Amino acid sequence: METKKKDIRALTKEQLRDFFVSQGDKAFRGNQVYEWLWQKSAHSFDAMTNISKETRQMLEDHFVINHIRVDQMQRSSDGTIKNAVRLHDGLVVESVLIPTQTRTTACVSSQVGCSLDCRFCATARLKRMRNLNPDEIYDQVVAIDNESRLYFDRPLSNIVFMGMGEPLMNYNNVLKAIEKITSPEGLGMSPKRIVVSTSGVPKMIKKMADEEVKFSLAVSLHSAIDEVRTSIMPFNATFPLKDLREALEYWYQKTKNRITYEYVVWKGINDTQEAVDALVKFCRFAPSKVNLIEYNPIDDGEFQQASEAAVEMYKKTLERNGITVTVRRSRGKDIDAACGQLANKQ
Ligand code: SF4
Repeated sequence: METKKKDIRALTKEQLRDFFVSQGDKAFRGNQVYEWLWQKSAHSFDAMTNISKETRQMLEDHFVINHIRVDQMQRSSDGTIKNAVRLHDGLVVESVLIPTQTRTTACVSSQVGCSLDCRFCATARLKRMRNLNPDEIYDQVVAIDNESRLYFDRPLSNIVFMGMGEPLMNYNNVLKAIEKITSPEGLGMSPKRIVVSTSGVPKMIKKMADEEVKFSLAVSLHSAIDEVRTSIMPFNATFPLKDLREALEYWYQKTKNRITYEYVVWKGINDTQEAVDALVKFCRFAPSKVNLIEYNPIDDGEFQQASEAAVEMYKKTLERNGITVTVRRSRGKDIDAACGQLANKQ
């Protein structure tokens, strides 16, 4: 009977060294293989050219390398690239490369579907199917780094966890992936160039603060009024703004890192002076800045981008109150770059 082979990348470096010792080989062989798996992103044992043929065969007999595959790549007229990424079990997630003059940012997924239910989000319709493994998150970054080098002649500079899924609902794997991305044995990127964007899970924000993580935190806020927020992000009924606020204050006390609030202004939902005033008040609890993001609509048109005048009202009011604000234009509109849109069409 054939036994299922284990994914070799689920092993730590220590476990890999122990494995080689258990096979009567030298522990340092584990280091070599580890380097091939992570730093060099080898897709097959055959690619490991400084490992003997017999050893490669032995690895083949015991393990598989479960790599992601970019199934479909779409390029927008504004340079944005969107990957539909096929996982080893056939499920699909998305990641996006967003180029600007000075940087290339990877927007990566952390779950297949999502356990939360934001009403404006295409991913929410897929429901959560499973969490991504650390290597599946890491591979998305590697794929985008390669595309950045190929199409823009520069390495990837930034990463945001803003694709499919709620990263704090897959906390351990996201942290393991970040560990690999920032490790010199992985991609060696600075944690300062990584943003984890959450819809706001208070308990997990506190946990991250306690663990003194070095990356930045963004919160998809979209409303600072409980009633409104619950109507568009129903889980807010379980994690109300009071708890979120308390967790964010705690985060700032511990990390001294200012928080970014991601905020979309929708017509008839949060385009009022009352909504802006509530946001200003919320921003006073901990040092923060606001990104006003243009909405990338999903098919049914229930949510519509507010008028320019409403966005301007937000910008002016925030600035008048000394809060840093940037307006982010939507990217990749012609390729369905809002998270979840492509996977919904598979
Ligand atoms: S916006 Fe983010 S947290 Fe909300 S359903 Fe979509 S993927 Fe999940």
